[in-house]
Amino acid sequence: MLQTLGRRLLFSYLGVMVTIWVTATTVVYHFLSYNLYQKLDGEIVNLANAAAHNLIATTVGQKVIHTKVPQILDNDDDGDLDIPWQDLRTSNQGIEWFDVNGRLLAKAGKTIYRMSFTADFNVIQYQKIRSITIPVYLHGLHGGGKKLQGYVRVNESTKELEEELDRLLWGFELGGLIVIVLSGLGGWWLTRQSLQPIEQNFQQFKQFTADASHELRSPLTVVKTSVEVIMNYPDIIHPANVDKLAAISSATNQMTQLVEDLLLLARTDTITSIQIIDWITIPLDELLEDLVEFLEPQAVSKEITLKLEISIEVFVKGEAIQLKRLFSNLLQNALHYTPRGGTVIVSLMKLERLVAINVQDTGIGIASEHIPLIFNRFWRADQARSQREGGTGLGLAIADAIARTHGGDITVTSEVGVGSCFQVRLPLAS
Ligand code: ADP
Repeated sequence: MLQTLGRRLLFSYLGVMVTIWVTATTVVYHFLSYNLYQKLDGEIVNLANAAAHNLIATTVGQKVIHTKVPQILDNDDDGDLDIPWQDLRTSNQGIEWFDVNGRLLAKAGKTIYRMSFTADFNVIQYQKIRSITIPVYLHGLHGGGKKLQGYVRVNESTKELEEELDRLLWGFELGGLIVIVLSGLGGWWLTRQSLQPIEQNFQQFKQFTADASHELRSPLTVVKTSVEVIMNYPDIIHPANVDKLAAISSATNQMTQLVEDLLLLARTDTITSIQIIDWITIPLDELLEDLVEFLEPQAVSKEITLKLEISIEVFVKGEAIQLKRLFSNLLQNALHYTPRGGTVIVSLMKLERLVAINVQDTGIGIASEHIPLIFNRFWRADQARSQREGGTGLGLAIADAIARTHGGDITVTSEVGVGSCFQVRLPLAS
């Protein structure tokens, strides 16, 4: 139980750490990526504005002649654009100048956008190229209005930027891996630290239950034998006290049973590997046969058909008394919670390395919402209280604890008013 709690704590801790890491890195990545693209956009807009000054138009009558554009852009004929702060040969940028009709006049730089001109003045991302087009106006002197001179389109390759972002992503992924490993180790250590006091308390509680049950045994035996001795001499008992003595005897029996059950549970909780070495090979088919034979009179008195459907020999390793207790609890329950005229069947199936024993009844059944609770200590359905006076609510908890200490488990399927089937699975003796 503590191991499951520890695992759950560890996975919750890891889940929280991974969620924080993923959220933080996603925010940082998008923030950085947004900033880098903003910077790039600022650069290409600046370049476009600078390049706009090179758009030279000479007007002759109504005709606009673009003649000197390439020369003026590259006066020294070195293949570079003559914008002092811009070296287009190295910066993966390209500039195109268009006339008012969108006809290409000149181009410079390496990265040229291979799309025809469109009068779209937003930043466009096409494959790995970012592009912006701006209109160029000539402002008339003396407030004579502005006149469109053409367009400048600037492109810049985003390859480098994307590579940088990819490297960042790799860094985050590597960081994530380190975070998971370190969180796992840290979480494991923290879980151990936080569970230690709980484990100590749990051990103390188990020890207390075992000690208290053990200490209660002797005074209970004294009360029980004293009452029995007194009851053996009915002549000396005042008639008014007969019922009281019978009540004391019944209550003592019930308490003795309860104390024995608690002691057994405390012992199964603290089972050690040394005790496991002492286990012997038990013929389970014979154990079940004996048990059914023993309970037959009880079934007959309730007019219940008790059937044993076993035709094979099966051996398991364990403690015979405990296994007897396990199946006795299940069978007693089946007989108790099955009305007169019902049927209880014990069957056995050999599976791979396991044996499955079914105890099936045609009894009152268990509501589906109660099924997860029935193995809890002291849990009893309200209906069961009225049906079974002597029950303590420990029977299934004991059966479950015994099955677990023997390396097996118990599962149940049930339908209210139809019946229940308890299946015990135990490892076969090798
Ligand atoms: P007890 O029988 O002493 O009440 P158990 O631990 O043996 O305690 O069982 C817990 C509860 O599970 C019972 O009170 C009853 O409500 C339910 N239960 C167990 N076995 C059966 C069964 N075969 N059919 C119906 N209900 C059952």
